[in-house]
Amino acid sequence: MVLVKNAMTSNVFQISSESSISDLIKILSQRGVGSVIVVNENQNPVQIITLRDIPKIYSTDLKGDKIENLLSFLNKTEKNLLTIKSNQSLIVAMNLMNKHNISHLPVVNKDKKLVGILSMRDLLRHFPAVVFTDSLTRINNRMYLDIIKSKIENIKTKIGILMIDIDNFKIINDKYGHLVGDLVLKKVAKSIKFSIKSYDELIRYGGEEFLAILYRCDEKNLPLIAERIRTKIKEIRFKKLLDLSITVSIGGYVKDLKDSISIYESIKKADEAMYKAKKAGKDCFILWKKTT
Ligand code: GH3
Ligand code: MG
Ligand code: MG
Repeated sequence: MVLVKNAMTSNVFQISSESSISDLIKILSQRGVGSVIVVNENQNPVQIITLRDIPKIYSTDLKGDKIENLLSFLNKTEKNLLTIKSNQSLIVAMNLMNKHNISHLPVVNKDKKLVGILSMRDLLRHFPAVVFTDSLTRINNRMYLDIIKSKIENIKTKIGILMIDIDNFKIINDKYGHLVGDLVLKKVAKSIKFSIKSYDELIRYGGEEFLAILYRCDEKNLPLIAERIRTKIKEIRFKKLLDLSITVSIGGYVKDLKDSISIYESIKKADEAMYKAKKAGKDCFILWKKTT
């Protein structure tokens, strides 16, 4: 069992709640510093302030330049700070982060003193990659979605979501056998991977269903990418099975920056659009619309 203390980063940026807000901004504006932990005189963590809080800091006239004044303004109190103990298991930390949709957890010892910080990235580094990999297609499995959930939900740009379902896959299995079915799944996964950017996400969501999450993608780009995926899959050929051709039905949804719905609700919308594509005769793409 991997423990939190083996995965956390110990050089944490910390600041006393008695310090000035200008000192806090100075730290946050350094390259690579995403969050600072505010501690009280006993070194107990009081709150986390992240880059996301900066606009709020600038948009207010605070009385006094102390971080204490800022915390009450941001409505961040010691009570609502989640922490994790260094001797707890990483699985517990992962569940806590997913449940509360947070990407960083201050790590404390048994005296509740701050000893480090644990980020989603630290978690990913310490879980064996195989846990998140689908053994057949070698792309990520559905568990991986829980890991990237909070990252995705906090992104401020538009995100494209595609649900890609192989058409008549049951018939392919029945006609050519399961081994060929497996080969089809492998080839389809590889083909989708080639059609999207390396930093986009591709997940085997169900048996013959693939979920693509495309960063910085809007209503204009999403149909183009979906069409590229669809046509590339149609071009897949099998040396010894010349009559075998594959098509997919794709549903898409664009998660807006103003959208407060969860990633799972967004996926549901892409799934609804995919079912429309099936009903429309398969081998096509449909973008989710409010009226649909
Ligand atoms: P539709 O066009 O409506 O999507 O029909 P379909 O036949 O593709 O969909 P359906 O859900 O009826 O069947 C999916 C099939 O996928 C059934 C299941 O046996 C098969 N399947 C799921 N996982 C695997 C796998 O890992 N390997 C193989 N060979 N088949 C799989
Ligand atoms: Mg299906
Ligand atoms: Mg299918």
